[in-house]
Amino acid sequence: MPHSRRTFLGIAAGGLGLPLLGHTPSAVPAAAPSPRDPAAPAAAPPDGYDPWIEVDADALRGNAREVARVVDGRPVLAVIKNNGYGLGLEEVAATLDDAPQIEGFGVVKVEEAVRLLDAGIRKPILLLTRASDAEAEELVRRGVRMAPYTDDDPARFAALGRRLQAPVPVHVYLDTGMSRLGMPFHRARPWIVEIANEPGIRIEGAFMGFTEERDFDLEQLRRFRDLAGRVRDEDGVELGRLHAASSNHVTFLPESFLDMVRPGLVLFGAQVAGGREAGTVGVTPAFRLRARVIRVERLRAGDSVSYGRNYIAEAPVWVATIPVGHSDGYPRQAVDGCRVLIGGRTHPVIGAVSASHCIVELGPEPTAAVGDVATLLGPDHPDIHPNEVSDRTGRSVYDVLMHLSPGLPKRAWGGAGG
Ligand SMILES: *Cc1c(COP(=O)(O)O)cnc(C)c1O
Repeated sequence: MPHSRRTFLGIAAGGLGLPLLGHTPSAVPAAAPSPRDPAAPAAAPPDGYDPWIEVDADALRGNAREVARVVDGRPVLAVIKNNGYGLGLEEVAATLDDAPQIEGFGVVKVEEAVRLLDAGIRKPILLLTRASDAEAEELVRRGVRMAPYTDDDPARFAALGRRLQAPVPVHVYLDTGMSRLGMPFHRARPWIVEIANEPGIRIEGAFMGFTEERDFDLEQLRRFRDLAGRVRDEDGVELGRLHAASSNHVTFLPESFLDMVRPGLVLFGAQVAGGREAGTVGVTPAFRLRARVIRVERLRAGDSVSYGRNYIAEAPVWVATIPVGHSDGYPRQAVDGCRVLIGGRTHPVIGAVSASHCIVELGPEPTAAVGDVATLLGPDHPDIHPNEVSDRTGRSVYDVLMHLSPGLPKRAWGGAGG
């Protein structure tokens, strides 16, 4: 088939929520060279002062290995939606494209699927949303897996399969209680049978999303397995790989691992709520938010800092200005207890986080200089761990990552930060 990229996920043994038998590493690596070499480390930090994001390719690959270890070697569908959780869609995908634990990629926007294709990403892509007929045609032609969930999807995808003269590969999206996307489980059976009987469609998998309310998660899992069991035993339909677990469930709920897991957050090295305490998934933040110090100055007793004069120096004190603000995605609330790493020490954010700047208190000595690299988020010190910044600002750790400005330049980093 002209549009087939390497087989996504095959048809799992049994497929019924049993651990996949002999989950063999995904597939033959394609011969084509990588679109870029994600392993190539930056030679040095940039010479300019503007903020940037460093994507740590080693950490990202290490996190993929760690997730695969936790889920006992099951394949991992990496969810890299929303600009790769803020780290940069293409940068993240280019690194994980070569990671053997990663089976494919999930995105929730058509535009992101197209960007991955245009970037030359070779692993299969699953689109977790609705596409127009024209969009679906382009995507399927280019190998993207679709996720039918509406009443009209069987007919739409069947027609597309006829047009392309090749079956449209799909993972059927089931709603077991989230009421967001997916075909409601209680009326899904005839709909699944309709899809299965359609020569223009090929079912590769079936999936659902959890509410992350623990007792109800277990009920959702029961509904999902029941349905899959029924369509197999009573309708003779194999649903292929079953998947449901996001980062929360990778961290806390082994019985949800099924045939494949579908995490986002933990791959980027942040933990879900309670995850650091649980210690089940040992991941490392795979990125740094950095900029260079652009001003170092001594305040006199009584001098004030930033809008609202929220900080007044009680005694002479040195301060440094960093050109990163809330428009870059650094939380405004960072002024309530966050610290910034400069030269091995962290310093409190004072005054206010304005759109493009924040100011830190150095202390009685000028311990930083203009041009020093400041790290606001990253793995290098507990104070700047994304979960710590989340805790100290009261913002969801998802926001801490996903609200990073997409305009920040991305720099690959193959090893420890400089
Ligand atoms: C975002 C998303 C995930 C991954 O969620 P994390 O909590 O980041 O692991 C998985 N599945 C679907 C459908 C999603 O939208």
